[in-house]
Amino acid sequence: MELWYTEKQTPSYGITAKVKETYVSEQTEFQKLDMIETEEFGTMLVLDGMVMTTDKDEFVYHEMVAHPVLYTHPNPRKVLVVGGGDGGVIREILKHPSVEKAVLVDIDGKVIEYSKKYLPNIACGLDDPRVEVIVNDGFMHIHDHKNEYDVVMVDSTEPVGPAVNLFTRGFYQGIYDSLKEDGIFVAQTDNPWFTPDLISSVNRDVKEVFPIVRVFWANVPTYPSGLWTFTMGSKKYDPLEVDESAIPEIDTKYYSPRLHKAAFVLPKFVEDLVK
Ligand code: SAM
Repeated sequence: MELWYTEKQTPSYGITAKVKETYVSEQTEFQKLDMIETEEFGTMLVLDGMVMTTDKDEFVYHEMVAHPVLYTHPNPRKVLVVGGGDGGVIREILKHPSVEKAVLVDIDGKVIEYSKKYLPNIACGLDDPRVEVIVNDGFMHIHDHKNEYDVVMVDSTEPVGPAVNLFTRGFYQGIYDSLKEDGIFVAQTDNPWFTPDLISSVNRDVKEVFPIVRVFWANVPTYPSGLWTFTMGSKKYDPLEVDESAIPEIDTKYYSPRLHKAAFVLPKFVEDLVK
């Protein structure tokens, strides 16, 4: 018998992947956690029925959360990741020698535990001496740490369940306050095909808090629609004013100095959402 995992990305549309094995299927304190082996995308972490990351396409998302913002700030030393319990963004952050400390705050310790066991290529940086892993609500952490971070990255689940507070104006104000006077933040902000209103509302809220707001995108095949957006809010530095020739070629498979500014060129129907 064939077994297939289907993610309903809308009530009437989804993707399906042929499953070879189920490693974990557990209701944690915060969400349903499934870790499965798929034929096409390898090991796949699923939370509340939504694909979080896969062995095959994880590099796109994790590189694009980490590198555009870290090459926009001239000297990022202390970085915070809210969510990101699979460790992929932390792995990319560690490729930046200027970073002295990377703090990861994920509300669910089980995501961290199972990612270390079943996604070793993604979670490999979580035990690095520069990394501090905290199991807590990122919303609380942000409000308890003022004027502390050069860069904040929000690598959370969709705005449901434990992540619902991570897409609010109050959270963006909290991020602003937790950043140093020239800090920058970036958040994953879903897709324009099925959640256009979210992109627009986040853009509006972030523009009320930050003087510089930019949206960029990448192709993540296992995420809803495959066209994934990210929103950057900056107190001082503009990603479009970076000198690409000063960006080094590092060990990446999606991000590059050539792609840095190109990623901010949006299809017109996406531009219209953030005007
Ligand atoms: N790349 C994925 C995406 O774009 O949907 C996100 C992956 S990462 C595994 C998402 C993480 O956000 C989960 O581990 C979840 O536990 C965490 N999370 C959700 N709400 C949170 C909160 N309030 N504070 C901290 N972490 C949270």
